[in-house]
Amino acid sequence: MSSLPGATPTLATVVIGAGQAGLSASGHLVRGGLRPYQDFVTLDANEGPGGAWRHRWASLTLGKAHAVHDLPGLPLGTPDPHEPASAVVSRYYGDYERRFALPVVRPVRVDAVTSRPDGLLDVRAGQNTWTTRTLINATGTWDKPLWPYYPGRETFTGRQLHTHDFVDAAEFAGQSVVVVGGGLSAVQFLLQLADAGARTTWVTRRPPDWTDRAFDPEWGRAVEDRVRDRTRRGLPPESVVAATGIPLIGDYRAGIDAGVLVSAGPMVALTADGVLLADGRQVAVDAILWATGFRHALDHLAPLKLREPGGGIRTEGVVVEADPRVFLVGYGASASTLGATRAGREAARGVLTALGAAAATRT
Ligand code: FAD
Repeated sequence: MSSLPGATPTLATVVIGAGQAGLSASGHLVRGGLRPYQDFVTLDANEGPGGAWRHRWASLTLGKAHAVHDLPGLPLGTPDPHEPASAVVSRYYGDYERRFALPVVRPVRVDAVTSRPDGLLDVRAGQNTWTTRTLINATGTWDKPLWPYYPGRETFTGRQLHTHDFVDAAEFAGQSVVVVGGGLSAVQFLLQLADAGARTTWVTRRPPDWTDRAFDPEWGRAVEDRVRDRTRRGLPPESVVAATGIPLIGDYRAGIDAGVLVSAGPMVALTADGVLLADGRQVAVDAILWATGFRHALDHLAPLKLREPGGGIRTEGVVVEADPRVFLVGYGASASTLGATRAGREAARGVLTALGAAAATRT
């Protein structure tokens, strides 16, 4: 039994994560009549509001983010596009938690979710346990940076960092930096590093997948459909860039013309002072920035054995097929602020339906 809030004998649901997906789900649970703390809690590992946005680098202003979708019942409004997105979104999420008196308990990092013989779930964090009928998992990807392995990685004597750890391009002024990865983060880092006076080399496994197609709702739906098809088949979700390509907006065209956004191709190994490219060139560098993406942070669900042989978790909508007590939001096709908001609503409805069905069975 927990000494932290929400310590009732059995909760209707536990939401893990208070980012866009977890807050949307929590807001809809309150709208649906669940009582904060008595019927559900939202457990979040962060020290304060903001989800992953809390940690994004200061130069990522709101105007440079693609879009942050409104949470249900409280529009984001029109904040200053020059303000760091981390500050804007953390403030917005904090307002949201207060406005709807959401039962967010933090900092609480869930270690494991286990299934009990009586059909309930135990959600464990350190010495604390919350017992629940259902689970809405909204833990995002930020806590699981992906560092691909290359031979010699341990021999490189310069600095290595991941998107997860990037703070400011200015600290690389005058340095030679390799940026690894073919996604949007890599593209944005390369432009910032060049502006800050770094010499950059762009390493990608495949030629960058530039596309002339502009972001629009139809494009968004096409991406979601493609990713959803994978999660339905129990395969690991692919990244949005893998599903869509990189849009050729004005800044990026200028970067290509300037030679900054031109890939040097794949690399095959790291050396003590640089990287060895597939075409045989050796590049001496001070730092390697791994813009190689993230995986879904789901280790705490391992005891539930949800993974399919294909390595992914098979879902129909937001419901896990192998265990319908569990809802995954912000996963696969819903890993965007728009998708996460919709998925939160769907999961809250699913929980309320499941509880209604259980109550009907008991009466
Ligand atoms: P998160 O915001 O990551 O929230 C997850 C929460 O769960 C965190 O607070 C975390 O601390 C908590 N948590 C994790 N593990 C545990 C645990 N074991 N126990 C307890 N709590 C836990 N999407 C857009 O729509 N527009 C954009 O402009 C955009 N820009 C992006 C820029 C970058 C650099 C990246 C990496 C992603 C971007 N995205 C963008 C995608 C973005 O990640 C999603 O849109 C969305 O914000 C994710 O919300 P979430 O609630 O799923 O996860």
